[in-house]
This record gives sequence, structure tokens and C-alpha cells, in this order.
Amino acid sequence: CGIFGVTGVHDASNFVALGLHALQHRGQEAGGIVCHDPIQGFNSARRFGYVRDNFTRADVMKGLPGPIAIGHVRYSTAGSKGATAIRDVQPFFGEFSMGGCAVAHNGNLTNAAALRRELIERGSIFQSSSDSECIIHLMARSIQTTLAERLKDALRRVEGAFSVIAMTRTKLIGVRDPMGVRPLVLGRIGEGWALSSETCGLDIIGAEFVREIEPGEMVIIENGHLKSHRPFAPAPSRFCIFEHVYFSRPDSSYGGRSVYEVRRNIGIELAKEAPVEADLVCPVPDSGTPAAIGFSQQSGIPFALGITRNQYVGRTFIEPTEQIRNMGVRLKLNVNRSLIKGKRVVLVDDSVVRGTTSRKIKDMILDAGAAEVHFRIASPPTAWPCFYGVDTPERSKLLAATMSEDEMRDWIGVDSLRFISLDGLYRAAGEADGRNPEAPRYCDACFSGDYPIAPADKLKEGFEM
Ligand code: 5GP
Ligand code: SF4
Ligand code: MG
Repeated sequence: CGIFGVTGVHDASNFVALGLHALQHRGQEAGGIVCHDPIQGFNSARRFGYVRDNFTRADVMKGLPGPIAIGHVRYSTAGSKGATAIRDVQPFFGEFSMGGCAVAHNGNLTNAAALRRELIERGSIFQSSSDSECIIHLMARSIQTTLAERLKDALRRVEGAFSVIAMTRTKLIGVRDPMGVRPLVLGRIGEGWALSSETCGLDIIGAEFVREIEPGEMVIIENGHLKSHRPFAPAPSRFCIFEHVYFSRPDSSYGGRSVYEVRRNIGIELAKEAPVEADLVCPVPDSGTPAAIGFSQQSGIPFALGITRNQYVGRTFIEPTEQIRNMGVRLKLNVNRSLIKGKRVVLVDDSVVRGTTSRKIKDMILDAGAAEVHFRIASPPTAWPCFYGVDTPERSKLLAATMSEDEMRDWIGVDSLRFISLDGLYRAAGEADGRNPEAPRYCDACFSGDYPIAPADKLKEGFEM
């Protein structure tokens, strides 16, 4: 999901709408905005579909006045799958004795099922099926006297990955979980402040990037001033490495390095680790493009756009049901036949999950008369599900969970298939010595099975690590 918040500007909701539009790739199912105005109080709107189709309309936006607002774009990882109910659309809002508070959450809480059961037993009335709603109910049970302190209490009880943007009448609050699994960045806009999942959300509103919110940090912005708090016990930082590979926009940056640069580096590493003789390097658009550029630069094999992507179809990955995903490939991608015919083609993609995409792309390329097809993948084999906010299917549906690299090559039906190594991926992300197995810099659980946060609910359901 994507989250965005702004305070200290006129018509904050307009800025939030723009920020969410820039974060649309993080969630395309639905979006919501909550705002506060000194005269009109709290207002909110929740809509299915794209930001641009809802939060540009005068009738929607005129109901969202005031100098402080937060918003969320949703992609379902927890809660109802497929048919998201409007009641699952964030931000969530709670009315407390000391005033209202809205909360937008990116990530996934790994103990939400247990918490929900406990909260319901003690009288909480849940409105949605979302794991994030726990935060509001935990706030309601806190005995602290301010909303910010109650939010701290609530977040000390949850486990998992969370970047949170919250707001009260006067405060804009940003928090990252102790390991900083999901991103959150801080920006300045005039006298005001902005919080965004990614830096591309700051760029679109003309905000100046200040810094990342640190893992385990809570910032509280009030009357134009920012205070930093440390509500949690310190923990090693484990930012999601898949944000670099796929999830974030290439024009965003983390740790002073653009996501584009990391992806291009992955292509360079891949060309060193798994060279191949070929005539063309083609990206599987759009997510494979920067890595394909790197592969071409390093190998000297010409880069070509052998596959064209229809710009009017969303990311396959983000569509919630497998059925839609299966149809998706042909709706979205087409081969440039005259370019491919008779050529030995290297295809570069970001990841192989179920393998169905790769298989269909291989069919299309061979149909077009390619002489050879070689797949190069910009991530290690995805062998484990993510429990921290990225929607991977259960383990049995992951190709790499059941097959070796050679078996995958044969199943997809290509001349060769190679994945970047975990060390190569770390080098591309700026770790000169690769992955330090004692203290890895990133979360890489979907590739390594090394889960930095025990997935408590899943373990109870019988998941074996
Ligand atoms: P698959 O191997 O499942 O057919 O799809 C892999 C391709 O689709 C990659 O290009 C990736 O961008 C995207 N993708 C589709 N579904 C998922 C998913 O559930 N998780 C991830 N990580 N990527 C996916
Ligand atoms: Fe990111 Fe993978 Fe970790 Fe999930 S399991 S947070 S996708 S690195
Ligand atoms: Mg892709």
C-alpha cells in the first residue's frame, strides 16, 4: 500500500490526492483521504479505483477541506481478498474522549489475528476485515491521555511490518516499525510538512526531501514543529529489499541511492554472474527495464524493446485474483515481431513467482520466431511467502518452492534461466561484501526464508519456517 500525509498547507487534501497518485503503483484497488478543518471538523472520502478517477472530482474534493490530511492507496494483502469492501478502505478513523484520530497503515501485522480475537473477546466491535483496524481498537484500550501516546501504546502491541501515518486535529504523525521494513520519508513544503511512502510522492507536490523516518522512529509534527520519539526497543534495521527490486518506483530513492540505480546495478551483476551469447537484451516491461539496461551495458549485447506494454493496464501483480492475473499477460504485453525474428533473445524480468507470466512470455517470443530465449531474473528465486505487506501466494504456489533452477527452466521451457544471487543483489543495493549472514542489512525472507519477524499468526496456522 501507499500512504501520504501533509500539514501546514491550504487545502491539504489536494496535496494528498497528488501524493497518492504518485504512489498509485503501491495499490490500485481503492483509496481514501481523511482531513481536518478547524470549522468543518473531520471529513473523509473512500473510493474504489484509481486516485485520478476519484480524488480529482470537484464534488469529492470540496468535501475535504482543511490544512491537514492523510491518505492511503490500498492493495489487499491482509483482510478480504479480491472483492475489497469499502469498509476495508483506509485511513481508519476513531473518535476518542480527547478527539478524533485517523490512521493509515502500510505493511502487514503478523499478530493481527491473535490481537483481533483478544480485542473482540474484550468487547471491541470491528468494522472491517483489515489487520490495520487493530491499531484503532488498541488505542481505545490505552489509558494514556494523549492520542499520540495511545498510538505508541497500540504500536508496541502489534508485531510485523508497519509504516503508519496518523493525524489528529492538530498533529501529523509518522512511524516506522522497529526494523523499518516498509519505507516512509519526510519532506518540507513551504512552512508545512509532508510524509510519503516514497520520495516520488514528495516530488509531485514540489516538497523538498528532508530525510527518511528512521526504523523505530515516531515523528510528531504540530504547529509547524517536528519532534522525534523512540517508542520501541532498538532493533536491527531490515528494510525490504524487494522495494528495490520491484515494489518502489524507479525514480524514488532510499539511503541516497535511486531505485533505478539499484535495478541497473542488478542487471550489471546479472550479466557478470550469468553471461550468455545473444543478439538482443529485452526487458519484460516495465519492471524489468532498468535491469535490462544494466545487463546490456555490462554485456555489450544491444538493448531493444522487444515487448511492448499496453500503458492502460495495471500491474499484473497487483490484480487480486489468480484468474485476472492469468488473463493479464496478453492484455498487457505484446511482442514486436520484426525485431525478434531469428534472434537469440535475453529477456530480463524482475521476479518469477508462479512462473505463469514467464511461460506465456516465452510462448509469445517463440511465436514471433525467436531463435533462442534466455531468461535473466533480477531477484533470487522467490521461494517463501511475504508476511510483511507484499502479496505473494502461499508457498505451494511458488515455483521456486518446489523446483530447482534447472527444473524451472524446463517447466518454463526456455534455453536458459538464471537468477541473481542473494549476494549479487546485496552488492547491487550497495553492500560491497554482499549479504552478511550474521546481520543482513535487508529483509530478504521471500528469497532466503530468513524471517526477521516471526510470523506469529501463520505459525499458529501451521506454517513451517
Ligand atoms: P508469475 O511468475 O507469478 O507469473 O509473475 C511474475 C511476474 O509478475 C513478475 O514480472 C512480477 O513483476 C509479477 N508478479 C506477478 N504476481 C506477483 C506476486 O504475487 N508477487 C510478486 N512479487 N510479483 C508478482
Ligand atoms: Fe520484502 Fe520479501 Fe521481506 Fe516481504 S519477505 S518484506 S517482499 S524482502
Ligand atoms: Mg513484471
